[in-house]
Amino acid sequence: MDHTVIARAGNEPAARRSAQIMGVNVKDTTSVLVVGGSLVGLSAGMFLGWNGVSTVVVEKHASSSEHPRAIGYTPRTMELFRAAGLADRVPPAPADFRLKRARVESLAGEWREQTDWTPEQRDVQIIEYSLSSGAAIAQDRLEPILRERANELGADVRFNTELINFEQDADGVTALLRERNGAEYTLRAAYMVAADGARSSIREALGIERKGRGHIRTMLSVLFRAPLQQYLEKGITQFEIDQPDLKAFLTTYNDGRWVLMFHDEVERDTQQLRQSIIKSIGRSDLPVDIITTGRWELEALVAESFSSGRVFLAGDSAHTLPPTRGGYGANTGIQDAHNLAWKLAAVLSGESTSRLLDTYHAERHPVSWLRHQQIFARPDYRAVANGIAVDEPIISDDAMEFGQLYRSTAVIGAGPDLPPALPPNQWAGQPGTRAPHLWVSKDGLTISTLDLFQCGWVLLAHDQLWLPAVAQASEALGIELRCVRVGLDIVPLDEAAFRLAFGLRDSGASLIRPDGFIAWRSAELPADPVHALTDALRTASSATGVRT
Ligand SMILES: Cc1cc2nc3c(=O)[nH]c(=O)nc-3n(C[C@H](O)[C@H](O)[C@H](O)COP(=O)(O)OP(=O)(O)OC[C@H]3O[C@@H](n4cnc5c(N)ncnc54)[C@H](O)[C@@H]3O)c2cc1C
Repeated sequence: MDHTVIARAGNEPAARRSAQIMGVNVKDTTSVLVVGGSLVGLSAGMFLGWNGVSTVVVEKHASSSEHPRAIGYTPRTMELFRAAGLADRVPPAPADFRLKRARVESLAGEWREQTDWTPEQRDVQIIEYSLSSGAAIAQDRLEPILRERANELGADVRFNTELINFEQDADGVTALLRERNGAEYTLRAAYMVAADGARSSIREALGIERKGRGHIRTMLSVLFRAPLQQYLEKGITQFEIDQPDLKAFLTTYNDGRWVLMFHDEVERDTQQLRQSIIKSIGRSDLPVDIITTGRWELEALVAESFSSGRVFLAGDSAHTLPPTRGGYGANTGIQDAHNLAWKLAAVLSGESTSRLLDTYHAERHPVSWLRHQQIFARPDYRAVANGIAVDEPIISDDAMEFGQLYRSTAVIGAGPDLPPALPPNQWAGQPGTRAPHLWVSKDGLTISTLDLFQCGWVLLAHDQLWLPAVAQASEALGIELRCVRVGLDIVPLDEAAFRLAFGLRDSGASLIRPDGFIAWRSAELPADPVHALTDALRTASSATGVRT
């Protein structure tokens, strides 16, 4: 297959731009070029660095956007951040944190009903599925933390640097980059990650179409500072302002900053913006400091393919989903980057063939599409669903957060008959799902099983008879595989719950991928464990079998 693609950036003809790339000497090389230095690009830089991959991240702007956008990060995202070393840097929300929303006349006026993101789950039993809680931190505060960690892990983050054009061939991608001062240079990378947002010029250059609900409306918003802490005492942080002449959405960034997003598309001058803010507060005696205004498109579109040749779409370039209380925007993108990072690392190190990279689309596209459907199945967006997802049953938050199933060649035993998502207790260790969280004792400390994963392949087994199989599979395929012996290396605090959660009997074993997902499971010791495990690892890792 010919992977050569010439970007059609700006209005310049493709041929001229191509000549421009060819005419400039390659100044720089890296394994992975990430385009876009916002939430997803910086996360990609961090996760690639964590996996030991040499990475350059380029961002055309000088810093994070002044308009913060995302505020809610889910427990799964925090699990990934924790594994990459951010546990102490991103302040967690309280364990039972959920974004609560109410329809009100104004903050100081009548409060009408509270609305639920997932109404059907009011009486659902609370089960501890994670050691992490979510986080409520404004995007412009989180991005510098991600950038710092990405730098520490070796990623080269270059702000004021724009991708102008690129082309790819059988061996890599050549990118033409331009610095703010006008200087241009080329960079050669083995792979490129397009984290360049909803309007991705890379996606367009690749000719990748998108499908979904489409454009809903243009959102105009105003970011301001005001002392409104007293209105947050009930734990509600999102407000649908419902007045005859003002329909808008008001929410806080938990740091004194608030954003008012209008449901109409009326352009307002500063005086009118101030009046609308005062109307939404319901009193005029408080100081209001307007910081900036925003304009963005509320839309829901998912790319039909998440990759083309050596280029991978991640984040909003792959799926632009409207902001929700489920955190399906930024969180989905951060999780894309995590899914891709270990696969790129495995292929770049020579451990795996490029077939492993095909599993990126196979795993992440269905996750994004299900989220698209769940947004319109829920009451928050039903009014603008336009016939989408009318018969779609609402899936519980626990299932969406911790129980979306991956089906790909990197998973053995996740058949088409299985549902797309279930709460972890119902999956019971099903391959294709995230390995569950349980408390275990290790070297005298109580830790989560999750802390055993996300650093290479792991075989979790009770029976010592698996040890020679681990050594031989690892040796045969040239892939490092750690055996964690249950009862010896770790001791579950609740043995019965542990066996149930992983679906294992005395002699069984679970093979866990470097991203903490279950690749394969043998409920009992097979007749030939060496053969069974080697086969499973070879298939799930797309092993080259060449030892480096
Ligand atoms: C009002 C609002 C509230 C939201 N709230 C939430 C929330 O609470 N939770 C949640 O999960 N999501 C939320 N989202 C969604 C979330 O903000 C986005 O999903 C997230 O920003 C996507 O990150 P990204 O890195 O993929 O893309 P972007 O943030 O759009 O970043 C793309 C970056 O690429 C850069 N770029 C583009 N082209 C080039 C180029 N050629 N060269 C170099 N750089 C380039 C851009 O400058 C930009 O910085 C919200 C969105 C909005 C609008």
